[in-house]
Amino acid sequence: MLITDGVIEAVGPARAIEPAPGTPEVDLGAVILIPGLIDAHCHLEWALTAGVAPHADFATWLGSFAGRSQDFDMHHRERATRWGALQAMVSGTTTLMDSGPTGAASAAISETGLRGTTHLEIFGREQGRDALERAVQHAEAVLALEDAAGPGVRIGVSPHAPYTVGPDLWTAVLDHPDLGDRALATHIAESPAEVRLLDEGDGPLAVLFKSLGRVPGQWPGRAQGPVARMAAGDVLRPGLVAAHCVQVNDMDAMTLAALDVRVAHCPTSNSNLQCGDAPVALLQQAGVIVGLGTDGPASAGPYDLRAEARAAGEAAARRGEPRTPAELLALATTGSAEAIGMDHIIGSITPGLRADLVAIQPGDAEMAQFDVAAAVLDPRSRVTWVMVDGQVMIERGDHATVDVRKVIADAQQARADAGLH
Ligand SMILES: [Zn+2]
Repeated sequence: MLITDGVIEAVGPARAIEPAPGTPEVDLGAVILIPGLIDAHCHLEWALTAGVAPHADFATWLGSFAGRSQDFDMHHRERATRWGALQAMVSGTTTLMDSGPTGAASAAISETGLRGTTHLEIFGREQGRDALERAVQHAEAVLALEDAAGPGVRIGVSPHAPYTVGPDLWTAVLDHPDLGDRALATHIAESPAEVRLLDEGDGPLAVLFKSLGRVPGQWPGRAQGPVARMAAGDVLRPGLVAAHCVQVNDMDAMTLAALDVRVAHCPTSNSNLQCGDAPVALLQQAGVIVGLGTDGPASAGPYDLRAEARAAGEAAARRGEPRTPAELLALATTGSAEAIGMDHIIGSITPGLRADLVAIQPGDAEMAQFDVAAAVLDPRSRVTWVMVDGQVMIERGDHATVDVRKVIADAQQARADAGLH
């Protein structure tokens, strides 16, 4: 492969490539080179929340998590996001789409040398003029984050979910000139409890909101299910990346495809929170672009997309829709790149795309000969080298610019400070 100024110039055997005289050569040895993995949905602010809320049904888990997540101050979040970003990169991720209530991850994404977007999350049920004022405040926060963000980081917007954001505020955010044209993310149709709440106004999430003294988002009309209700409310805009989409039927899949809403499949979280397995085949057959997301350690794992691809395989098998390793790996590369609208820049090893590359040391050399994708996803295989935009970021277990020991020590201290063990 020949890389010039961060761009993949040529791909093929060394003898077929003619670099300019003096071009430095790198021999990575017997490794599998893959495109950098792309996390279409995660939450770096919650990097230290593994075990904070016991895995249970969605509403029970959310009740525990909501109680604990208020405790974390900005100092905690800054240390958490650095640790999360580093975990993602050492797992082979080179681009990630983060969402969080403070936007703290934007600095960590930049410092770690990842590509990425931090979506500032919004929650609220304001109506009318209050919703417009809230959108203005949110726009100010987004613009301030953008001013502070380092190179390579974009600031997007994430109305959190239809049960935490009402239609007036959602529409006000989309209509605001500084917000509506940004990268958009959300959570839709995650749990049976969400469907029950939106359609019937009761169920475990309704009980949770009542116990917290809060009013859930309400989407009027006769449409059934979150996707149909949100479509009727005209908030499903092209390019929106919707995490989960487990509770969707044929009509919902066609609606998402027609409106060009993309899906971030988060199988580990869906499984741990008893949400069910997303109908990925149904979505893809309807024409919906599906990428892969790790969500966060509170409900899933530590930002490891290869583990998430394996979980996607298990989820597909449970649905009787088995996938090949190559198809599973594609979810985290070309699928995610398309989902986040960056497939013209990243997602495959193709001349003209940016050089985001990961070397995998296969755990089983024979398997690597037989099925390269299976060897990549094999848990015995290891990420040994990571390049982003032509710059080597991870080599021989160390990071080019980040003090790994300090990030780990700070993360341990942050967990201790927060009373987490
Ligand atoms: Zn999420």
